[in-house]
Amino acid sequence: MAIRNVRTDGNPVLREVCKPVAVVNDGIRKILDDMLETMYEKDGVGLAAPQIGIPKRMAVIDDRDGHILKLVNPKIVKSEGEQISTEGCLSVPGYRGKCKRPMKVWVEALNENGEEISFEAEGFLAVICCHEFDHLDGILYKDKAVEFERAEES
Ligand code: ZN
Repeated sequence: MAIRNVRTDGNPVLREVCKPVAVVNDGIRKILDDMLETMYEKDGVGLAAPQIGIPKRMAVIDDRDGHILKLVNPKIVKSEGEQISTEGCLSVPGYRGKCKRPMKVWVEALNENGEEISFEAEGFLAVICCHEFDHLDGILYKDKAVEFERAEES
């Protein structure tokens, strides 16, 4: 595994509509492993492939509550309810904001073995899914934030 360079706001790769992954092979699995390692290194809860400069539809998530996910070609097929989230992004360092997100989403994707999976995500996990999958369409959370401000120094 290797830690990859995280691209930040202003880099055009973050604005691309990412291409679907055609075949989940060893190369894809290596990228997913690198994404997870990079996410942990930066203390994030999610990371999307364009954030490491790869415009393909992949995301990794660890909500720190038992859900560690490596997702290929993920999509939200249904959503329900509403919540106001507090979000930050490794590609928009030093800021945080609030977004209106669904309370619950239903996700379909491929796992790292290329098998079809589906799951429901609620609360914080739903927020992470929405945030990461937006990256795959070139959308940053600040685009839809209802509040966006410099984060307090911690
Ligand atoms: Zn992000």
